[in-house]
Amino acid sequence: MYPSKHLIFGLIFSLVLYLVFQEIGIPGFLTIWLASFLIDVDHYLYYAISKKDISLKRAYKWFMEESAKSFLMPKEKRKKMNKQIPCAFHGVEAIAILALLSFFHNFFLFVLIGFVFHEFLDFLHIVYYGFSLKHIGSQTYNLVAYLKN
Ligand SMILES: [Zn+2]
Repeated sequence: MYPSKHLIFGLIFSLVLYLVFQEIGIPGFLTIWLASFLIDVDHYLYYAISKKDISLKRAYKWFMEESAKSFLMPKEKRKKMNKQIPCAFHGVEAIAILALLSFFHNFFLFVLIGFVFHEFLDFLHIVYYGFSLKHIGSQTYNLVAYLKN
């Protein structure tokens, strides 16, 4: 799902949360909102490391082109795509670490809520367009599979 959509849906979601649970305060609202779209920084990190290029603009362009390419594939082929780019923050590992840290500070709980909401949207996108669920699965698995290829 495109970052602009995450930004808007994340804003609506964190606003609703803030209105229902005002005790989270403005910092809670802001943390959840920021986490709901800044999680995608891991895509940029993948680009910067694998392509040895720190240009945010070129990274964005590259992902847009890759996304356009995958949309041209037949749905069945898309689902079976074995090579998933490892996205550190999108996996179950990040969720587990944040869940643990949440016991120590609310900040991590807010980040966790933002991440889970983001991944829920990614999940809908994946199911609807027929991408691989590995994108939001284990990133250790994705990294090992990626390095093997
Ligand atoms: Zn995402």
